[in-house]
Formats: sequence, structure tokens, C-alpha cells
Amino acid sequence: KAKEQGGNGYRFFTREIDQQMQARLAVEARLRGAVERNEFVLHYQPIVDLPTGRIGRVEALIRWRQPDGALATPDDFVPIAEETGLITGIGNWVIETACAQMREHLLGDTPLARVAVNVSPRQLQVPGFAGFVEQALRRNDLPARCLELEITESVLLDDTAEITANLDRLCALGVRLSIDDFGTGYSSLAYLQRYPFDILKIDRTFVASSHNDNSVRLIETLIAMAHGLGMEVIAEGVETEAQYALLRERDCDHAQGYFFSRPIALDEVSALLRSEMPLA
Ligand code: C2E
Ligand code: MG
Ligand code: MG
Ligand code: MG
Repeated sequence: KAKEQGGNGYRFFTREIDQQMQARLAVEARLRGAVERNEFVLHYQPIVDLPTGRIGRVEALIRWRQPDGALATPDDFVPIAEETGLITGIGNWVIETACAQMREHLLGDTPLARVAVNVSPRQLQVPGFAGFVEQALRRNDLPARCLELEITESVLLDDTAEITANLDRLCALGVRLSIDDFGTGYSSLAYLQRYPFDILKIDRTFVASSHNDNSVRLIETLIAMAHGLGMEVIAEGVETEAQYALLRERDCDHAQGYFFSRPIALDEVSALLRSEMPLA
């Protein structure tokens, strides 16, 4: 098509790439200093215990407040933060804030036992990462078992000594480690053998297709495998009553998804916890 349009087509193409580059650079520029300007917010999605339907844990999910007040979701900026290395500082803010908010607003007179935080590959490659986590727990007077770190399996693709050392040290501290989006990346089974994961999170694509017999057998197999390895299972992306019933029947330990609750602001999740209402 560019050929038909001759020189103009080509010029249009480069201009479009140029605009994408400019947009990316603009996001990168605004991401720098966003922690200091206090632009990030954590939302929390309840994770329910099966079969009771009670909230036992929450997952912290980052949002970025825009100049117009809108909240940007991670897909719009986390990849850029990862490529530029800015994720290290942002990720530290997430851990510190999740620990502080857990201590101040979520623990205590609520049944909540744990907060889960997503961690990027770049963070695990920093030699002092486990030490930072240990300090954050100490600063906030939080037992290590109250913190879970979720690691996406693609994260572990480069198997460096730093990653192994950080994961081993976190495990020794008593921080729980989960493998996120299980089944969508590469070499997941090898990672289970190599790293000390406590929890397996079944990716929502498997839950979404659980009306299909094959997917049901796959889910059953994943649950049996995880249990056989001494791991707990969390199903992600539960959107319907039928999916919830199926997971409960198949002996899944925990579930999260829009059927129970979307990710919500701190004050909302805090109120929900205090009400001690089962979500299903
Ligand atoms: P994730 O860790 O797998 O988180 C689950 C994502 O699925 C969240 O999207 C959540 O809002 C969404 N979700 C929850 N229940 C449902 C459901 O029933 N249906 C559907 N369709 N989606 C559901 P979100 O908040 O946009 O986050 C996207 C990804 O961004 C996360 O995937 C995680 O990989 C990453 N992320 C989020 N917060 C952080 C963070 O603080 N640091 C890092 N490094 N990554 C983060
Ligand atoms: Mg996650
Ligand atoms: Mg996930
Ligand atoms: Mg994900």
C-alpha cells in the first residue's frame, strides 16, 4: 500500500512511528519523578478462600494518576517502566506502600492474612532486593508471612545468580512466593523445579475457557500437580458463578475475579474487610 502511494505512503509510515516514539518518550519523561510526585495509587483485589467465599488475601495492583484525574492501568506504563529500569524505584514504592497500608488499614480487626504484590524481573536482578523487602517488613512491623510476591514466569527467563539468590533469601525470610499467570509463558515446569514457589496462580485464560471439557481437565491437572508439589492454587479471572462452582468442586484453594470483586481503592477494601461479608 505504501508503494501505491509512492513517497507519501512511506512518509506517512515514518511519521506514525515517530509519533509512537514521541508518545513513549513523553510517558517515560512523566514516569521519572512520578513516585516523588506521589502519582501512584494501589488498588486491591480480594482473593477469596474456597469454599467459604471469605476474603483471606488481597492483591495490590498499581494505578497511575494522570493530570486529568484518570487512573492509568499497568499495561499503559509498566512495560515502559521495565524497559527503562524505572520499575526498580516504582516497585520499591509498591512494596513499601503495600506493607504500610496492610499494617495500618487492612490487618488488625479484619480477617485479612496477607497482601500479594507483583514483582518484575528487573527488581529480582537487583542484588539488594531481598534485603529491601526485609527492611520494608521491619519498618512496618509486618511478619514475613503477611507478604506474598507474585512473579510472572516470563520474568524468570534469564536465570541469573542474582535472581536465585534473591528468591532463596526471600524464601528463607518466610515471604511467600507465587508463580503468576501460570501456563501462559515458557518452561513453567522447569521453573517449578528450580525455584521455591509456594503458590501457583492459574492464568485467567484457562478459567475463561472452562466451559470446554479439555480446559476443565487441564485445570484439574494443574490443581493436582500443584497440590502434589505441596503448593496452593489460586484461580485468576473468575467471572461467573459457574466458574466459581467448578473451581470449588475441583478442590481449588482460592479464587479472584470480577465475580467476587474488581480491584478497588484502599478505603473500599478496608470497609469490605471490616464488614466480614462473604463475597460468594
Ligand atoms: P496480574 O498480576 O495477572 O493481575 C491480574 C489482572 O487481571 C489485573 O489487571 C486485574 O485487574 C485483572 N483481573 C482481575 N480479575 C479479572 C477478571 O475477572 N477478568 C478479567 N478480564 N481481568 C481480571 P491490571 O490491574 O490491569 O494489571 C495487569 C498486570 O499488570 C498484572 O497482571 C501484573 O502483571 C501487572 N502489575 C500490576 N501491578 C503491578 C505492580 O505493582 N508491579 C508490577 N511490576 N506489575 C504490576
Ligand atoms: Mg499478579
Ligand atoms: Mg496473573
Ligand atoms: Mg498478568
